[in-house]
Amino acid sequence: MTEKKFKLEHPVFRIISLTAKESGTKVYVIGGYVRDLLLKKECKDLDFVVRGSGIDFARKVAKKLKCDKEIAVYKNFGTAMIHYKGVELEFVGARKESYNRNSRKPIVEEGTLEDDQKRRDFTINALAISLNEEDYGQLTDPFGGVEDLENKIIKTPLNPDETFSDDPLRMLRAIRFACRLGFRIQEETFEAIKKNKDRIEIVSKERIVDEISKIMLTEKPSKGFLMLDKCGLLEKIIPELSKLKGVEIREGKGHKDNFLHTLQVLDNVAISSQNLWLRFAALFHDIAKPLTKKFIGGTWTFHNHEFIGAKMIPQIFKNLKMPLNEKMKYVKKLVGMHHRAIPISNDEITDSAVRRLMYDAGEDLDDLLILCEADITSKIEEKKQKFLNNYQIVRKKIKELEQKDFVRTWQPPVDGNLIMETFNLKPCRIVGEIKDTIKDSILDGKIENTYEAAYKLMIELGEKRNLKPVSTQNEKTS
Ligand code: ATP
Ligand code: MG
Repeated sequence: MTEKKFKLEHPVFRIISLTAKESGTKVYVIGGYVRDLLLKKECKDLDFVVRGSGIDFARKVAKKLKCDKEIAVYKNFGTAMIHYKGVELEFVGARKESYNRNSRKPIVEEGTLEDDQKRRDFTINALAISLNEEDYGQLTDPFGGVEDLENKIIKTPLNPDETFSDDPLRMLRAIRFACRLGFRIQEETFEAIKKNKDRIEIVSKERIVDEISKIMLTEKPSKGFLMLDKCGLLEKIIPELSKLKGVEIREGKGHKDNFLHTLQVLDNVAISSQNLWLRFAALFHDIAKPLTKKFIGGTWTFHNHEFIGAKMIPQIFKNLKMPLNEKMKYVKKLVGMHHRAIPISNDEITDSAVRRLMYDAGEDLDDLLILCEADITSKIEEKKQKFLNNYQIVRKKIKELEQKDFVRTWQPPVDGNLIMETFNLKPCRIVGEIKDTIKDSILDGKIENTYEAAYKLMIELGEKRNLKPVSTQNEKTS
């Protein structure tokens, strides 16, 4: 144990200390805040452990901080949270925990600070600093957490096998912290994860996805996914990703390992964007490669993998109990389009091809280009540079077209309603055909992008189908 006293800067510490003194109890700041303080990293959320009731104590603190309304009490968990000036203060009564086999939810009884430290997941998360008058700022480190911080090691305070069996979510937390902090998981701890991987079944999908998302948002998510794979958890959580692994060789020809490629694309996207959903699109961009793989004429092909991959996205989200909302649609769209920019960047780049890409990608165009560029993982530097340069040309072209005649959220000037009104039609295939032909003609530069030109073409297309306009009242003359 180190005798060093810590200076605690945040003004709430003194107030909490005073509250403890007045109510004759003991309080400590514990967990993430202490870990990050020692690592000199910023930490917004503060966790406190109190002898006695955490909820009663939190109420007293809230009163002192004059934010009684900002307190949320979780009776079931025996915790209370105060939102104070953008910081979350969480209070829990010091406790002893024991588990039964079928649930992550422990049986709880009152305990000492040490009992409470024993129930923490990792030694580096079990550090506590006293806020009590007699030893204010004193660190308590019963499991060598400081040494593990110095050596960059994740390990459990008690027997790892029991720790993970009790609450299997901790396995994902171990990987998340290792990935985020750039630490390594101690061998015995990692072995215990391997051994307990099947226990992940008692963890809710929501909590799993929450941890996976946190891993996705680290600087180098590949590190986390390699660990997930190595311990066998990946196959349990997202089996579709495990299937990307490996290289098959026929007639002396292999293809790239799609798992390693995917992880590289994910890391590449992570350099350019913090957007979690764009990172998910990278993670799943080649998800249908195992399904579409064929060896034809001496080469490996993955024909249509992007379309089939897009179709797989809703089911993958559903399996993970992720909401089937606009985020899912966004991931699906990007997976489905991730090959669209390739022909444009390879061949001579025509205005109409770029317009079409802009129209189809809409407001997700920038993200799509980030994904496409991240997808260039060729080891041959010359090839890589050539592709990247081509994308620069595509980007330039997009800017030019945007300035010239295009807005990103463009819609054809004649819509389905007008077509139906003009020819007195109910919704039907013909309406869609006329609409698409007008859209294509504008995108291909065959007619001008104006209401008048589009209206004229609509009338012509109607006439070809023996349709007569019932009214021309919508025709604008200006
Ligand atoms: P973060 O920066 O991600 O918030 P944190 O260490 O503060 O990291 P939290 O999830 O906020 O993590 O939890 C706060 C503390 O509670 C942890 O430091 C750890 O001591 C303890 N803890 C959280 N979840 C568990 C768990 N599943 N098992 C054991 N201890 C846990
Ligand atoms: Mg925290």
